[in-house]
Amino acid sequence: MRPEALNPLFVEVEALEGVGPKLRKPLEKLGLTRIRDLAYHLPDRFVERRAVTSLYEASVGENVIVALTVREHRSPAGRGPFRVMAEDGAGNICTLTYFGRASYSARKQLPVGELRWVAGRIDQYGQMLQIVHPEHVSENASAPLGQLCEAVYPLSEGLTQGRAAALVAQALKALPVLSEWIEPGLLNKMGWPAWHDAVVEAHRGVHQPARDRLAYDELLANALALMLVRESNRSQRGTPLAGDGSLRARLKLPFALTGAQARSIAEIEGDLAQAAPMLRLLQGDVGSGKTVVALTSMLIAVEAGAQAALLAPTEILARQHYETLSRMLQGTGVEIALLTGRDKGKAREAILMGLLDGSIQIVVGTHAIFQDAVAYRNLALVVIDEQHRFGVGQRLMLARKGRRTPHTLAMTATPIPRTLTLAQYGEMEVSKLDELPPGRQAIDTRVVAVERMDDVAAALARHIETGQQAYWVCPMVNESETDDLAAAEARYAALKERFGDAVALVHGQLRPEAKDAAMERFARGEASLLVATTVIEVGVDVPNATLMVIEQAERFGLAQLHQLRGRVGRGSGKSTCLLLRGAQLSETARQRLALMRETQDGFRLAEEDLQLRGGGELLGTRQSGDTPFRIASLEQITKLLPLAHDDARLLIERDGGLSGPRGEAARLLLYLFERDWGVQLLRSG
Ligand code: ADP
Ligand code: MG
Repeated sequence: MRPEALNPLFVEVEALEGVGPKLRKPLEKLGLTRIRDLAYHLPDRFVERRAVTSLYEASVGENVIVALTVREHRSPAGRGPFRVMAEDGAGNICTLTYFGRASYSARKQLPVGELRWVAGRIDQYGQMLQIVHPEHVSENASAPLGQLCEAVYPLSEGLTQGRAAALVAQALKALPVLSEWIEPGLLNKMGWPAWHDAVVEAHRGVHQPARDRLAYDELLANALALMLVRESNRSQRGTPLAGDGSLRARLKLPFALTGAQARSIAEIEGDLAQAAPMLRLLQGDVGSGKTVVALTSMLIAVEAGAQAALLAPTEILARQHYETLSRMLQGTGVEIALLTGRDKGKAREAILMGLLDGSIQIVVGTHAIFQDAVAYRNLALVVIDEQHRFGVGQRLMLARKGRRTPHTLAMTATPIPRTLTLAQYGEMEVSKLDELPPGRQAIDTRVVAVERMDDVAAALARHIETGQQAYWVCPMVNESETDDLAAAEARYAALKERFGDAVALVHGQLRPEAKDAAMERFARGEASLLVATTVIEVGVDVPNATLMVIEQAERFGLAQLHQLRGRVGRGSGKSTCLLLRGAQLSETARQRLALMRETQDGFRLAEEDLQLRGGGELLGTRQSGDTPFRIASLEQITKLLPLAHDDARLLIERDGGLSGPRGEAARLLLYLFERDWGVQLLRSG
């Protein structure tokens, strides 16, 4: 039950003035469904304006507020803009310029002969000063002068700046005052405001202490929740699993394990033998061979008479894992099944029965494997692939599936900086695959200007003629971006025109059957070229695909580029990755692409990425999916996470049940950041 003090924050945005069905979608797209979300919808930046009496006090490019008398309306002769000639108090004339529909309201707002207060950015237009699309026009001074410092909010299609600001203002009025969860000594030392004031100030201007405090709150909530998981896990009883090696002996691997694989397996085997449930992270770059480690771990469970589950983030990956593992398990007599949301009817019933009576020993699937209807006879090990895609909450639901808490092995190929490992995985034990299987060749990575598209297509044609396959990746940072989707479809059409049926397409909006069909055609070699969005990012394994083209590479994060590139270079042949870049590149983007060319070490890329962004703008734009946080930036994480971590540990050591006054406040915090599964653990543990 959420504490009552938080109720005002969890009221739906529909309750606000001016939010009708039309605004719902744009708000939802930004994740703004409750008052709380609006309160935390922090500005990207602020526009600072200066009030001037004469236009010539200001320089070109400056944002000003000025009183102007309207002299004349000039309607466009053809398709030109609508212009309003206006005069400042010193007799200087300037033009207010409006394109398209904006001219209708401009006519009304700026009647000839009247004085208006105008806020906007001064431009030079020929000999004259102009303001294009003034941001505010008002009859009196008070409104624009209240905007000397105006927040600029992240928007989505259908949501305007003015509307966003108005909604945030309403949300801020509804903020409760909450009791303090931050340790008073720290609060003082950092000079941080109380929560309520911090939220208000973060919307009012660049106020670093306020923003830091809010970021700290988020980090503390996360650290606390992870620590509660850890504590609760310690107090649970699991099943000690000691395998006799019989199944592992029957496994016929076509290669010898690397030292890192053998070491990781030994670490896992040691954990599994304990009664306390394992919580271990297997970190290994793409291609480092995590699958065989997972399989071996699962075999230990099966040898011990228990069941194991492998959870994959997507259907494609689940299917691929299933196929790989089935192949490897041939001759071992182990029963393995695939269970996804798409399995229906008799087939599904049969699998459910097998899981219940124990005849299926290993199940591979998507989150469908921990739906309520799925019951296990003796689930003792859960392996989670590409762990970062699942929240800890989901992990816990899965943990509830066994009669006893199953051992958990989380696997990730996402090379994240050390600080983030702590943030994301808390105090999990870590095994690292820091050694690639022998015989891998470096991927020849090149940065190519997009103007050379024809050359790229020609190289692609030559590549395909040799019988090898290729990926063509289109950016779709967010799978719901319609523009990106259209661009990917257009690229597919263009490539299809040139290469015919050899081209297949996958993206997140396709029906699962269509997606699988395309992937299968590619995996079987029937399609030579796979046009794809980032759905191929993780796990997909087609060794004959040795060329990858990534369009608008500058739009991807380094970690993502690295993951994508890891799809090639999987066989013994030489592989190439072409990073197509746009004409306009920021300095940071240029450096990032250069770094991709320079190294293939994911962990190094992750650290350097952090460095590159470290010195960035105060309120830099964020890449979604980079971190598990919504408010804290990478810099703030680096700076504040260790503090939050220590603070959380102290709090739990002193008040493990979170029942003292600060503990109660910390519960508010957990609910505020929807880490309330942490609180639930307190109750059940
Ligand atoms: P990851 O999941 O870590 O990205 P995979 O488990 O898919 O990597 O392994 C990548 C490829 O390397 C697979 O084709 C696998 O068969 C192969 N492989 C794994 N371990 C070894 C090894 N020790 N020696 C040679 N090849 C290996
Ligand atoms: Mg893998």
